[in-house]
Amino acid sequence: MKLSFNEATTRECSNLETDLELCEKAGFDFIEIRFDMLREYLKKHTVRELKEFFDTHRIKPHAFNAVYVFDSFLAEGREKDDAREKQTMDDFMLGCEVGQEIGSQYLVVVPDLFREAPNARPYINTRENINIDTVRILEALSDIAADYGMNLGLEPVGSLGCSVKTIEHAWEIVRMTNRENVGLTADCFNLYLYAKHNDFSDMKPVDLDKIFIVHVNNADDKPIGVLSNADRRFCDSGVIDLENYIGTLRDMGYDGMISVEVFRPEYWAQPAEKVISEAYRTTRDAVARYGRL
Ligand code: ZN
Repeated sequence: MKLSFNEATTRECSNLETDLELCEKAGFDFIEIRFDMLREYLKKHTVRELKEFFDTHRIKPHAFNAVYVFDSFLAEGREKDDAREKQTMDDFMLGCEVGQEIGSQYLVVVPDLFREAPNARPYINTRENINIDTVRILEALSDIAADYGMNLGLEPVGSLGCSVKTIEHAWEIVRMTNRENVGLTADCFNLYLYAKHNDFSDMKPVDLDKIFIVHVNNADDKPIGVLSNADRRFCDSGVIDLENYIGTLRDMGYDGMISVEVFRPEYWAQPAEKVISEAYRTTRDAVARYGRL
């Protein structure tokens, strides 16, 4: 498995330029770039400079995070927030255009999700309607992404506020979409949010070459409904069964990227260098113990 760093981990204490230098120094194989941090970077730098960095360093770009789609996205004649539609499309196109230039080939796609407070508002719709909309959106994005050589990884989120909560449901949607460049993103925290789901053997029916992106982290012990992204932590301790998660991927023969993704204010209050070196050490230890390096 290849060790990757997701920029959420240093979102408030670093920037893309610093993350690139520090992640290379720490030993990461890949970095997942966030759209907000990419936009900040492009105020002072060019895409060509970003490409030059990757051309001359060991670390490579992996997925962009993230395109947050919603049920009425790209649907003609449906009521929607036009600003949200534009922002989502802008993020998607930025990922396609910059990805093609710098050699990144993946975009994380998050299904309809109330982001402001996990579980504050339940998502209510039928599975049939969710599938119709999500497949329609993925097909439309897949057509555009293919022109840029980009692949889309659908990331289920287990909270009550998300339309697609489990790997099993996301895999059904990916199979219905049936496009070469549409696969899955697995994130053990997001899967754990579904009633403290801690048996990741439900990933086993997924075709190995359809697992595009893997996010890894642990979490504090809090009740569902209270547990939020801020309670994610490094892989060194916590309530998520990483032996089961990483071990299941290993048993499936997965040998792709595994990316530490944490949104913890406690880490954001620390120097980026410390956060990134700890992120590397703890992720490497977990992958060495339960996976394959
Ligand atoms: Zn994730």
